Parts: sequence; C-alpha cells; structure tokens
Amino acid sequence: FDKKLSAMKMKQTLSMDGIPFKLYANSDNVRDVHLALEKGVSGIGLFRTERLYMDRDRLPTESEQLGVYKKAVLDAGGKTVVFRTLDIGCDKVPGYLNVPDEDNPALGYRAIRFSLSRADIFRIQIRALLRASAFGKVKIMFPMVSGVEELRLAKGLVEDVKGDLKKEGVPFNPDLEIGVMIEVPSAAVISDLIAREVDFMSIGTNDLIQYTLAVDRMNRNLSHLFSPFHPGVLRLVKTVIDNGKKEGVKVSLCGEMAGDPLLIPVLVGMGLERFSMNVESILRSRWIISQIDRTEMRSVVEQILSLSSVSEIRRFCEDRFDRFK
Ligand code: PEP
Ligand code: MG
Repeated sequence: FDKKLSAMKMKQTLSMDGIPFKLYANSDNVRDVHLALEKGVSGIGLFRTERLYMDRDRLPTESEQLGVYKKAVLDAGGKTVVFRTLDIGCDKVPGYLNVPDEDNPALGYRAIRFSLSRADIFRIQIRALLRASAFGKVKIMFPMVSGVEELRLAKGLVEDVKGDLKKEGVPFNPDLEIGVMIEVPSAAVISDLIAREVDFMSIGTNDLIQYTLAVDRMNRNLSHLFSPFHPGVLRLVKTVIDNGKKEGVKVSLCGEMAGDPLLIPVLVGMGLERFSMNVESILRSRWIISQIDRTEMRSVVEQILSLSSVSEIRRFCEDRFDRFK
C-alpha cells in the first residue's frame, strides 16, 4: 500500500472518470511548503499566519513578515500560496496584545473582527502580504467573515494599502486575488451574496462544524457531538459548493474534512474540485480520488443527503468507503 501511495507523488489528481482535481496543502511555516511540493501539490491552499504573532513577545514587524511570506512564495516555485490573515482569538491569543478574557471566546473578539478593530496591526500585515505578491502567486484570504459588511471593510483596507504602496513606488501584484473562509453558518447561507464580491471561497469546516452544531471544537466532553457527518453540516457545505458554481467563483475546502477518507468521496460527489489538507494526507487523498467515479458519486450523495442522522450517514459512508480508510 505504501508503494501505491508513493507512486501518487507528483501525479496529476484525476478521478476514475478523468476529471482533474486540485490538491493543496495547509501550512503554518515555510518548512511545510517544501514537504508539500515534494508531493506534487498545486500550491498552499491555507497558510496560517498566527505563528508569526505567537512565536514572539511583540508584534512581528513588516519586514519580519515580508521575510517569511516571501520565502514561502519563492519556495512554492510559482505555485499559489493562499495566506490567511491573522486569525487570533480563542486558543491563540498572544499575551502582548492585552485582549481581555471573554466568557465566550469562540464567539468573541477574534480573527477578522480583531483585525478590523486594529487597523494599525492589520495594515502592516496587508502591506507585507502585498509586497510578497511581487515575488509569486499570492492570494489573500480573510478568516471568520460572517457577512458582506466585514468583507467590504477588509477589501477597502486592502485597496487603501495598495494606494499607499503605489505612491511609494513599492512593487506588488495589483490583480492579486482575494477570498474568504466560509466558516460561520451565516456566511455559508449567504455564500451566493459573498461569492459576488470575492475571487474564491474556502470552506473551513473545523469552525463551520463548531458554529453550526454549537459544539466547542476544543471541548473533550463534547467531541462525540462534533461531527462532519451531521446532515446540517453536509447541507451547508453543499450550499457553498453550489453557490460557488452558480456565481462562477472557485470553492475549496480547507478544514480537516478535506482529508477524511470517508468524506472525500462525498465532497467529490457534491462537486468540490479543490481540496486543501495536511501534508500527510495528500498522497492518500490523491489515491482515493483516483478510485472514484464522480458521476456515480453524484447519486451516492443524493442518497446520503436523504438520510437524517449522524449515525446513519456515518454508517453508510463506513460501509461504502471502507476500503479508503
Ligand atoms: C477551519 O476552521 O476549518 C480552518 C481551516 O481554520 P482553523 O482550523 O485554523 O480555524
Ligand atoms: Mg477556522
């Protein structure tokens, strides 16, 4: 089996009926970019930038950030790197930011909410990301967007920073693509409206499951309730994929679900063509896709979506896709 997997390196990702898929890696450091490229990914679909802020006792400067972003972009050798802007909050809060303790941190002052209220910090990150875009294929993605207002404010800030760089004569890619994570249920429900204002959407199922099911993703006492097999979660994921298609906007999925052997066939059947996952899952996922016929999977998904409970759906997937585990 290991041999079969290593034969999947550098291969194109094609389903059994010949449809091309794109597999991207998730990463939060430059080392993983190398590892991912060795597996023949199409790029980095989610570069988490929190580490830059967590690894020190003060804010990273523009040039420190540029150093990291530029290296990731150059190492990606012409392939896309999607940088997600700062997603602090919840479990990831650097002490030096003096963010007050909150009763409900997952529902609190985090991610894009933090960035929009601290434009001083956000602008520096956007400057560094735009400057990195002069060296390769950079995309910017905003986390935890719940509606179009936040998106417009964040895009406005990017335009503003572009204006500054232009005035200063600093190079950047003026056509750089901007996207959002779809990880708040409201954003999934209105993903048709959001799609009209972005270049791409990436479904963050780790948070989408947490918020859809009202189950804290970190709470061990509730881990049995945290399930990507919930019909409510599956319907929302399908809504986003359908809305992306309808509006002609690329959709990817970058939560843990993207690398789950029992769910990859389901996502393929829903029409998803871009997956971003942990580096270790890439080869197995490419192999799984190569064993799937998408047309057949379409009708399997219809069957799955007619089931009403987590356990029925899980059992169905276990029976049907056991060989992929
Ligand atoms: C997600 O929420 O699915 C996601 C990919 O982001 P993170 O796990 O960093 O919250
Ligand atoms: Mg998230």
